[in-house]
Amino acid sequence: MNHDRSRALYDRALSVMPGGVNSAVRAAIEPYPFFVEKGEAGHVVDADGNRYVDWVMGLGPLLLGHDLPDEVGAAIQRRASEGPMYGTPTEVEVELAEFVARHVPSVEKIRFVNSGTEATVSAVRLARGHTGRNKIVVMQGGYHGAQESTLVEGDAAQPRPSSAGIPQSFAEHTLPVPFNDEAAIREVFEAHGDEIACVLVEPILANYGIVHPEEGYHEFLREITEEYGSLLVFDEVITGFRVGGLGCAQSEFGVTPDLTTFGKIVGGGFPVGAIGGRAEIIEGFAPAGDVFQAGTFSGHPVTMAAGLETLQYAAENDVYDHVDGLGERLRAGLTDIVADRAPEYTVAGTASMFKLIFTREGPGRDALEEQCSAGCRQEPTCPRYDFCPKNAGDVKAAETDRWRRIFWGQMEDQGIFLSQNQFESQFVSYGHTEADVEETLEAYKEAL
Ligand code: PMP
Repeated sequence: MNHDRSRALYDRALSVMPGGVNSAVRAAIEPYPFFVEKGEAGHVVDADGNRYVDWVMGLGPLLLGHDLPDEVGAAIQRRASEGPMYGTPTEVEVELAEFVARHVPSVEKIRFVNSGTEATVSAVRLARGHTGRNKIVVMQGGYHGAQESTLVEGDAAQPRPSSAGIPQSFAEHTLPVPFNDEAAIREVFEAHGDEIACVLVEPILANYGIVHPEEGYHEFLREITEEYGSLLVFDEVITGFRVGGLGCAQSEFGVTPDLTTFGKIVGGGFPVGAIGGRAEIIEGFAPAGDVFQAGTFSGHPVTMAAGLETLQYAAENDVYDHVDGLGERLRAGLTDIVADRAPEYTVAGTASMFKLIFTREGPGRDALEEQCSAGCRQEPTCPRYDFCPKNAGDVKAAETDRWRRIFWGQMEDQGIFLSQNQFESQFVSYGHTEADVEETLEAYKEAL
């Protein structure tokens, strides 16, 4: 594939932007990222005219793919043509808030912000303000954006910043524990129960593996947070309006958190974040309450229109059937390929999310003939159970170099765009077709 124009653009970018990009993960493609010219349905076309099947989909926001249905596109254009924003409320903000409150079990009230990061920053501040406590519990391998309280690694005994520029004294308020480990949570609550403002958790770890919760794990988190008077915060920036349809992952798992953070799909492809939850807690945000929260662009009319039209379109059309069906087809096809050619890999994902994870051993072809097909719930009866990662430690054992060769050496060359590192989920959109799935499976077969 010829990448001359991307190469030239990258050289220019390097001289004016750190690492040549505006978000760190984009530079992970070696030796340099391709620059996109445009999107078309389930594809992107790069600056040199190369066409890829796109399973990155903007890293999650593009539920409908790159070609927006006419009514969605028209509503966005209309809003933009009426002046981009005003610094005073608009009706469309109320409509999107009402839509979310109608569909997501835990949401009575919601505040819109401009990114997933801003949503988790504000949710943590709100949880601290509401409880009068400082500490938060997070999952090792969880991701909640580029913010001081969660860019923390290590364990609850020795948390430390995972980025330069964050004081150790900030990290000390954050207690990272392994996902799916009830004993570890119980231990931190026994030691710090009356200091813990919230447990902040992705219902499914989507930035590190895809790791599914074991049966009963979220129910356990719900119970222990209630027992100690802490809040349970689901970070549904990725799973929101993707897993469990319009009810989000919380409806799929049947667990109602106190607060939920959203991003990505709820803005229909424009910059967005949101914090929703029980009215009594959300009312803590200024001006109703005393937890300060504000933003020039928050509730941006163009974003609100894009989010509302996208979700309404999904409510009225076969969007979730389509994306979940193709997701299942991809996972089943990949599972067959892996059983045949690379049993050291495991296929993870549910609904419209999928990822191939290196696990060294697989369940073997015979066991896979009776594999579950409903999307992974970490049920011990599943033949894949022992091979699915349960926490960040399992995912970390993945082999970076091998993945590199497959991604950059093979899949990209065959015109398949996968997420830029081996840990982040990939996404099916309404723009994808059976043919895109078949082309992708053929490419995986060749690569593996
Ligand atoms: N939370 C989760 C679960 C995410 O996956 C992300 C980003 N991928 C964020 C928060 C941060 O969102 P943003 O990049 O919009 O700030």
